[in-house]
Amino acid sequence: MRMSSGLTFKSTKGSWIRNLRRQCSCRSVEFFVPSSPPLDPEKVKELQRFITLSKKLLVMTGAGISTESGIPDYRSEKVGLYARTDRKPIQHGDFVRSAPIRQRYWARNFVGWPQFSSHQPNPAHWALSNWEKLGKLHWLVTQNVDALHTKAGSQRLTELHGSMHRVLCLNCGEKTPRGVLQERIKLLNPTWNAEAQGLAPDGDVFLSEEQVQSFQVPSCVRCGGLLKPDVVFFGDTVNPDKVNFVHRRVKEADSLLVVGSSLQVYSGYRFILTAREKKLPIAILNIGPTRSDDLACLKLNSRCGELLPLIDPH
Ligand SMILES: [Zn+2]
Repeated sequence: MRMSSGLTFKSTKGSWIRNLRRQCSCRSVEFFVPSSPPLDPEKVKELQRFITLSKKLLVMTGAGISTESGIPDYRSEKVGLYARTDRKPIQHGDFVRSAPIRQRYWARNFVGWPQFSSHQPNPAHWALSNWEKLGKLHWLVTQNVDALHTKAGSQRLTELHGSMHRVLCLNCGEKTPRGVLQERIKLLNPTWNAEAQGLAPDGDVFLSEEQVQSFQVPSCVRCGGLLKPDVVFFGDTVNPDKVNFVHRRVKEADSLLVVGSSLQVYSGYRFILTAREKKLPIAILNIGPTRSDDLACLKLNSRCGELLPLIDPH
């Protein structure tokens, strides 16, 4: 990880942050994390004050917290998926309506799954999990579907857009682990060897038309219905009960910290509006501008995994 060599910090547990840098150093991380200025010690102190004063902290995370785990975000300048590729996210309506689109989606998802599911939490995820254990965190809301907060042990957690680690039957509503489906797909496609085609560095998958057309799409074991990852695709809406639940957690909170989100998507931004109505202090940690910079009392353009472990949650 890139960090100014002129600055030295001690983490809350007393270990030098240099050790942390060694843990996180890998090329894929450099590839997906936007460039940022060196940590500003004054800003670190300001965030520390913000966290110390907070007794019921709500944290909302977005794709920016996972780039240091090697998962690209969508919107970051130069390194986000929108900047680097012409890839469009799948639309919910297309997925539901079109068998060929589902076939292509599941074929690519099958090939990409071993890499996607292998991503691990980074020090930012671990820091937030630690804050929860120490009673600092009132609630954690994530817009991510990568399950990295769960892998880090967070429990006071709402996955606003669901999780790629679960599969939903659109007919009977049964939810099953994605890993189980991987084995079923292998059995359904014994001669299908697209994995040999390999993956791009960001986990994207290239498949020929022939490969896609020979791919057998699994259906629900219980009712034969259509299967979809248990995530909110573009063009779909978040379950209203889940939205109301998060609104209540925001209203109970005394401060809000945004981590790694540009807040461009309304499903997350609406909670900022609720926080503003409640006049909660808002701090934002995100590399690059966000939709709510003008509402924040503190804005930090730093890497989540470098900054959050420096904060003492007591
Ligand atoms: Zn079913």
